[in-house]
Amino acid sequence: MVIDIIKAKIDVVEEIGLVVTLQKSGKSFKGLCPFHNERTPSFHVFAESQTWHCFGCNEGGDVFTFVQKQQGLEFRDALLYLAEKAGVLVEDHSSRNPEEEREITAVKDRLRKVNEDALLWFHQMLLRSREAAEARAYVQSRGISSDSVITFGLGYAPDRWDSLCSYLLGQGYTERELINGGLARDRTSGEGEGQEKSGGVYDYFRGRLIFPIRDMRGRVIGFGGRALGDEQPKYLNSPQTLLFEKNSVLYALDMAKDAIKLANQVVIVEGYVDAVIAHQYGTKQTVACIGSAITAKHIQQLKKLTKQVTLALDPDAAGATATEHGIQEALKSFDHTVVPVPLAAAAGGRKRNEPRGMIRLEEQVDAEINVLQLPAGEDPDEVIRRDFSLWAYAVSHPLPLVDYYFVAKTAGLNLREPNGKSEVARRLLPVIGMISDRVKRDAYIRKLATMITIDERSLHEELQRVLRGQRAEEAGFLGSAPRRGPGGVPQSSSFPSSEGRGKEGGLDRSRNNRLQWEDYLIGLLLQNPGLSPYVCGIINDGDFAGTDTRELYHILNSVYQRGSSSSNQSFEQHVPSALLATVARAQQCIESRPPRDGAGQVRDAVQCATRLKRTHLLQLNTELKYLVREAEEAGDVVSMQQLQHQLLEIHRQLRTIDSATHLQG
Ligand SMILES: [Zn+2]
Repeated sequence: MVIDIIKAKIDVVEEIGLVVTLQKSGKSFKGLCPFHNERTPSFHVFAESQTWHCFGCNEGGDVFTFVQKQQGLEFRDALLYLAEKAGVLVEDHSSRNPEEEREITAVKDRLRKVNEDALLWFHQMLLRSREAAEARAYVQSRGISSDSVITFGLGYAPDRWDSLCSYLLGQGYTERELINGGLARDRTSGEGEGQEKSGGVYDYFRGRLIFPIRDMRGRVIGFGGRALGDEQPKYLNSPQTLLFEKNSVLYALDMAKDAIKLANQVVIVEGYVDAVIAHQYGTKQTVACIGSAITAKHIQQLKKLTKQVTLALDPDAAGATATEHGIQEALKSFDHTVVPVPLAAAAGGRKRNEPRGMIRLEEQVDAEINVLQLPAGEDPDEVIRRDFSLWAYAVSHPLPLVDYYFVAKTAGLNLREPNGKSEVARRLLPVIGMISDRVKRDAYIRKLATMITIDERSLHEELQRVLRGQRAEEAGFLGSAPRRGPGGVPQSSSFPSSEGRGKEGGLDRSRNNRLQWEDYLIGLLLQNPGLSPYVCGIINDGDFAGTDTRELYHILNSVYQRGSSSSNQSFEQHVPSALLATVARAQQCIESRPPRDGAGQVRDAVQCATRLKRTHLLQLNTELKYLVREAEEAGDVVSMQQLQHQLLEIHRQLRTIDSATHLQG
């Protein structure tokens, strides 16, 4: 299989060594983790198993995961990258037929070319034409340097009806191509729709300063045009085209992506000028969202680069709504890790009627979202130009989301009145509940208690109530079946998970082969995508040992979470052909066993997932013990303490898993 051949040819130590300075220590190699900030190395590469793991941020995997994470690639692209390196041929004939594929590629290429030509023309206009004098004056008045004009390729669209069109038509493009590229409008559109007579075309952008919008790879896909006078709209963006998808593009992302990785932060501003000025002054981790709403698609692109999102949207009322909206999208779109937490250890203690060893599944957002605080009434570009140090400080010390909510959610409430107090608690407790760090959480409870002068302990109790209310539904272990939004997949009632425990089912305990368990789990999920929420509370991508099964699990989960009604069809669209063999293998693995009813499937899936989690934890345990011994021999006290700490954490998780297994019977 292609993946195995690649893995045999590419050494994980060598590949990671290209990016991380690795130091040999015993059988493993260590270095500073490229995925989180640290001063002492907790990032380890194991030559023997060809795996890596960071005991600081808990990222880990094989060479594929490393390339994916480090370069921000989808599995498919990581596969192509590694295959090329290994000199292995991968054929990826995905869902579409090749004929169609070729045609679309050709059309796209042509649209790219027309956009590229338009860009050059706009740019020359701004630099040289007499009629662009006003635009040049505007550029200067906003403090945009001539270097920035060139790097960002700013341009000018003259205030005439067909100057760009007649230029491009002269270059051999057709009217249809100009319209499809979002550069021209049809004169006849609006009246007599659907009629084929051509009344000619006219320029889409007129009398505007032009900001070229590029994709992640720096190719022009559309334009943003800012009015110079009072014309409406103030900002006009390219219409939706084959290349330009408004809701997913972030302005300046192509120029910001390296800085985002380096700074491990992305700053999102609202306007093109804000982004240009931020870059000009050196805060290159800045992008602007096009239109004003942050969408899930924006976050999808960003989360491959960083987990720290700083929103620098306007502080006015509309801005606050946009900020709130952005936060919600970000919270939804980042990966959620569901962590089992023993109830006995939870703050606030265990309720009398809850059995010992009971666990709660806590959902944690795998990201840090915060809000940039700027002086009221000033746009980022104004702040930057007036006082860069103020901006730089704000960027490096953004307001954590929870603190932001403490301000935003209490505005206008009277904290001295009982009604105001309970309203504040009602609004803020769910926010506090999202904090995974218990010490931090307690600190915020204290802050809230002081704010509304209420006993801390009753707030803790209230918080537990809120958390239980929110999460019990999600928790497969607690008896109530997972609730899932859209999707049309079998819902709770078909899988009573409390029923029929005790029996092991058909799983052969002795065949403790991790990869086979992975195949079996994938097979179950293929057969019934509705099992996904039962499983994702227990394991995540990182717990898989097989590259192929891990990616399939990832695809299955994301297809399920996107809630497609025809899960199977859309699943097939997402599977790279290199993984089709694994799909067949997993299906076979299911077919070779007696059929299960709904409850049986749930039981098997949960059991499988638990076992895989346990195996992974045991592997980490072994690796850690080895590293501890090594640190001990080297007399490295600091590392030893850190590793011991991690070891305890692994043991805690193992105990949790074991008590959960015990509960499942
Ligand atoms: Zn790390």
